[in-house]
Amino acid sequence: MIKKAFINALALQPLVSLGSKLYQHKVPVFMLHRMACADLGISGHSPELLRQSLSFLRTHNFNFVTIDDVARAISTQSTLPPKSVAFTIDDGYLEQVEIATNIFAEFDCPATFYVCTGFVEGDLWFWADKVHFLLNNCNDAELNKVMAVFSDVVSKSAEKSVCLSHIIEYLKTCPLDRINNVISAAAAEINLSLPVRAPNGFQATSWESLRASEKRGMMVGAHTYSHPILSNESENVSEFEIKQSTIHINEQLHNPSKVFCYPVGRQQDFSKREVAFVKRLGYTGAISSEPGAANIGDSRSLFSIPRFSYPDTKEDFIQYATWIESFKSQFRPT
Ligand SMILES: [Zn+2]
Repeated sequence: MIKKAFINALALQPLVSLGSKLYQHKVPVFMLHRMACADLGISGHSPELLRQSLSFLRTHNFNFVTIDDVARAISTQSTLPPKSVAFTIDDGYLEQVEIATNIFAEFDCPATFYVCTGFVEGDLWFWADKVHFLLNNCNDAELNKVMAVFSDVVSKSAEKSVCLSHIIEYLKTCPLDRINNVISAAAAEINLSLPVRAPNGFQATSWESLRASEKRGMMVGAHTYSHPILSNESENVSEFEIKQSTIHINEQLHNPSKVFCYPVGRQQDFSKREVAFVKRLGYTGAISSEPGAANIGDSRSLFSIPRFSYPDTKEDFIQYATWIESFKSQFRPT
């Protein structure tokens, strides 16, 4: 309650304007993932909260910019209008484009969809979704068999959701080859055949939908071919993943984003090697998932621009979108 009142007081129009002048070099870039969709059994960001967030920004005269605008401002050391904010949505799921495009278009906000192109092509579905699917289709006895496959590396819990997060955390340390082999082995243990194409709830959008979204003011960018953690892969695989997704995006879209988006995107998930590949392909910048506002004054951040995870409450959203977070972050120990 106190936090809510405090944030609402700080978010009053004159304070927002004053704060955003002081912190004009800090531009929040939001990172969204799945959109909630009861029909498809998908939990994710609430469409209603997204509407409220965008409405708050419009009412307070924020400026919607693209992540490409942010990268351009960093690279040319120019400024963006005060109260600029950018939105990105990662991965390329069907419901993201269907639901979020309508909401962003309603507010004239140019969000950028970062898609894995092998997923949109229908060549694959995501390994983390396969783990979800596998565990969703397990009874208790089968769960024991699945967990036995991971017994050397993952601690078992009676809770299925805890097992799921342990498996996913372990697999994030592995290259894709190993991930796919282990998932196949676990599925074989319970005689489950994993569908070749993504089942309901895990499906990709299409190039056609992305082009329609582009026509409504959104942008589309590359997020690799199959969403590996690039730093876990060999040099050849890492280069292929970035290059192939770039080729697909350039072939399929009219005005693709010139900013690349690293899968998972924590500091340890990409390195100088990936930055070099991305630069060689002509990208003007790249985004990570490290939390923070983009710092227009820091040209060293151009190929690892931070983003805020889109939060679950309006108060948290206001904090990240306005000067409040930049102000508070100055006093946090680093
Ligand atoms: Zn992703």
